[in-house]
Amino acid sequence: MSGSIPLVDLSRQHRPLKQELEAAFARVMEKGDFILGEAVTRFEREFAAYCGVRHGVGVASGTDALHLALVAEGVGPGDTVITTSTTFIATALAASYAGAEVAFAEVEEDTFNMSARTLEEAVASARRRGARVKAVVPVHLYGRPCPMEEIMEAAARHGLAVVEDACQAHGAVLPDAAGPARRAGSAARSGCFSFYPGKNLGGAGDGGMVVTDDEALAARLRLLRNYGQERKYVHLLRGFNSRLDTLQAEVLSLKLPHLDGWNRERAALADAYREALASFPALSGKVIAPSAPTRGTHIYHIFAVRTPRRDELLAHLHARGIFAGIHYPIPIHRQEAYAHLGMGPGSMPVSERLAAEELSLPLFPGMTGDEVGRVVEAMAGFRG
Ligand SMILES: *Cc1c(COP(=O)(O)O)cnc(C)c1O
Repeated sequence: MSGSIPLVDLSRQHRPLKQELEAAFARVMEKGDFILGEAVTRFEREFAAYCGVRHGVGVASGTDALHLALVAEGVGPGDTVITTSTTFIATALAASYAGAEVAFAEVEEDTFNMSARTLEEAVASARRRGARVKAVVPVHLYGRPCPMEEIMEAAARHGLAVVEDACQAHGAVLPDAAGPARRAGSAARSGCFSFYPGKNLGGAGDGGMVVTDDEALAARLRLLRNYGQERKYVHLLRGFNSRLDTLQAEVLSLKLPHLDGWNRERAALADAYREALASFPALSGKVIAPSAPTRGTHIYHIFAVRTPRRDELLAHLHARGIFAGIHYPIPIHRQEAYAHLGMGPGSMPVSERLAAEELSLPLFPGMTGDEVGRVVEAMAGFRG
């Protein structure tokens, strides 16, 4: 019953893999193929197959995956990209890097995600303002997949390219009504992943990937990530320098076989949280846990509860060595970086309320049921 509980503890995931990881490092040092080495091609194949698509293009980060996917879809200056305001800033930055303007769709309160309904509203409102809406980036926030079937239908109605931000959803199963199970990132033409160390599948540094079934798009992405270079010193377009390191590919390749197990462990911890929270009448109605999906899976990159006295509860937990967190305290439309959009307080009520109420509880593979119990007990002791 002692010791602090971190939000994430990667060492518990890495300790059992220590020898394999060290051997992988040694292999890369020995071989010296640091950039776009053999292990990158291998991991691209492995991760694309895991997602159920044909091609994977390794890039330097999740942000770059989104940026290059938008560029590959032809998004550029004069275009508007619709995404949600309740996400990590990188989703919007990627559109900005492509030279496009961003517009925001509201999120559904119970999922923190875009739906066809909120997308339709955002398209209509952007078009009323004269925007040329070109693409939409649904974000599978916290590891809960968006309703991609209805979003793809709505996007098709409006002629929009779709780029999935699956940076928090490695391995999550989409809530499709029909057909075989599909993973997040495989519904749209391109699915973007981050391998930032803290993600459900993370490297030993930055990394990312775009997965796609479209061979021409994959070829374009391979040019874009490597100076627009087809052969050495032959440049077909003004590309970027954004490659996945061989070292990262080695680490990721080694960790990929564990991903489903880690995701199941996360889901079991989420169930344990729901059960523990329900056992304290004092918390009922005050702390709302995320619902377990009835279709598809949620991989709980973040276990996000909602609570009206969030900041006080967070301080109470920190004082007791429980390092809960907030994702994300300021919605993007209220960030200084996007002040030019002129969106004042109250312009996106649901996103703003969720930003004020969201609390991320510690959850990571290797966390124990006892630790879940201690987090919830500490929450029940909050008398504000
Ligand atoms: C992590 C993340 C990104 C960016 O990925 P990086 O690898 O950190 O660049 C983009 N979108 C979402 C939703 C993320 O969580």
